[in-house]
Amino acid sequence: QPVIVAIDGPSGTGKSSTSKAVAAQLGLSYLDTGAQYRAITWWMVTNHIDIDDASAIAAVAGKPEIVSGTDPRDPTITVDGVDVAGPIRGQDVTSKVSAVSAVPEVRSRITELQRSIAGSAVTGIVVEGRDIGTTVLPDADLKIFLTASAEARAARRSGELKGADLNTTREALIKRDAADAGRKTSPLAKAGDAVEVDTTELTLQQVIECVVTLVEE
Ligand code: C5P
Repeated sequence: QPVIVAIDGPSGTGKSSTSKAVAAQLGLSYLDTGAQYRAITWWMVTNHIDIDDASAIAAVAGKPEIVSGTDPRDPTITVDGVDVAGPIRGQDVTSKVSAVSAVPEVRSRITELQRSIAGSAVTGIVVEGRDIGTTVLPDADLKIFLTASAEARAARRSGELKGADLNTTREALIKRDAADAGRKTSPLAKAGDAVEVDTTELTLQQVIECVVTLVEE
């Protein structure tokens, strides 16, 4: 029986690092659902779709072919065969992804893709995102909700962005989380049966150990 682990939470809580490490350690596949929303956003930007026009986004939501490689040691993401791993981390995509992700046609399309990937994982999969435990995989064997103080999340994120201004990073992060938590369709939320782990005072290694222990229980 494949094991399904859902890891949700806002940005900067260590979701990606934790999910990848747990999957690698337990021999499971790994899916970064944020990368899929970033990939479809990249396609919208590249094709000059008006990001403020939800119906324009909805009309073309089914067009790009998004493929995720699920090896936790080498996760990949392509759109229509193009490797977009680099460009989807840029500021332009990051500032627009919440708006694109809020469009119901985008969500239903990406959700379907996620369920099909999770359903075909042989040993199991760690799926990280915002709505995995609540909407995408409500029957997951284990649901984790990672949190951390706004200060800790901004500090981690600006560390990743190598020297980005802390205040700017913090404000952008708070704005994106508010948009993700406030949208009508599948908002960022903790599932009722999720285990909440506050990572503010924990090292990455401690968070990984905590989740591995929960999976093995
Ligand atoms: O995880 P990451 O920061 O890369 O996610 C980028 C964005 O994708 C989030 O801010 C959110 O708007 C969207 N997202 C989502 N649902 C998910 C994962 C990500 O709406 N399951």
